[in-house]
Amino acid sequence: MITFKNATKNYQDGTTAVDSVSFEIKKGEFFVLIGPSGCGKTTTLKMINRLTPLSEGTIFIDGKKISDYNIDELRWNIGYVLQQIALFPHMTIEENISIVPELKKWNKADIHNRVTELLEMVGLEPATYRSRKPSELSGGEQQRVGVIRALAADPDIILMDEPFSALDPISREKLQNDMIHLQKTIKKTIVFVTHDMQEAIKLADRICLMKDGRVVQMGTPNEIIENP
Ligand code: ADP
Ligand code: ADP
Repeated sequence: MITFKNATKNYQDGTTAVDSVSFEIKKGEFFVLIGPSGCGKTTTLKMINRLTPLSEGTIFIDGKKISDYNIDELRWNIGYVLQQIALFPHMTIEENISIVPELKKWNKADIHNRVTELLEMVGLEPATYRSRKPSELSGGEQQRVGVIRALAADPDIILMDEPFSALDPISREKLQNDMIHLQKTIKKTIVFVTHDMQEAIKLADRICLMKDGRVVQMGTPNEIIENP
C-alpha cells in the first residue's frame, strides 16, 4: 500500500506542482492519475520512487516512510516505464530486460527463464526477439519491452508515465489490451499517468483526477462517468 500524506512539491522557481495531497493506493490496484498537462501527475508519480524529493509531507510504502528505505532497495522494488522508450541501443533485448535481475544477482538460468516468460507474456517470440537490438523492433514492440523490463525482477509496484502516448493508435490499443491481460496475471500495484480519459476508464480500478496540483475527484471508472 502507498499512502500520500500532505505530499507537497514546490520547485525551486516557486512553482507548487503538488499541493498537499493525501490519498491511498491499495495493494494490487490499477491506479490512474489523470488531469490536464501541468497539473502535477508526473511529479506525483516521481515522488514515489524518490526521483522528486518532497518539500513537505510524507509518502509511506507498506507503512514505512519512503525516506527510510535504502534507495537501491526502494528503486529495485519499483518498476518505472516512461513515454520515451529508454532501452539501451547497444544491448540486446535480453540484456536490456536482465539489467535489474543482474543487479539483484539472480543466477543466469533464472534470468534466462524469466526473459523467456516475459517475452511470451507480451507475445514476442523469445527465440526471435531475445538476441535482437532495440533498433530492430517497431515502436510498439520496443514499448512492450520497456514494460516487461520494468517487471523483470518482480517489483511490487510499477510506475508508468504516459507509457503508450507516443504510439500510433493501433499499437496503443494493443498495448492497452496487453496491460489488462498482464495485470490479471501479475496483480501488481500499478500507478499509471495519462491525460486520456478513454485509456483511464479502460484500464483503471480507480481514477484520481488532478487539477492545479490537487486531487479534485477520486473513484472507480463508473463513479467518474456518473459524476463528471
Ligand atoms: P503533468 O505531469 O501533470 O503534466 P508535472 O508534474 O510535469 O505535470 O508538472 C507540474 C507543474 O510543475 C507544472 O507547472 C510544471 O511546469 C512544473 N514543473 C515540473 N517539473 C519542474 C521542474 N523540474 N522545475 C520547475 N517546475 C517544474
Ligand atoms: P511498425 O509499423 O509497428 O512501426 P515496423 O514496420 O517498424 O513496425 O516493423 C514491422 C516488423 O518488422 C516488426 O515485427 C519488427 O520486429 C520487424 N523489424 C523492424 N525493423 C527491423 C530490423 N531492422 N531488423 C529486423 N526486423 C525488423
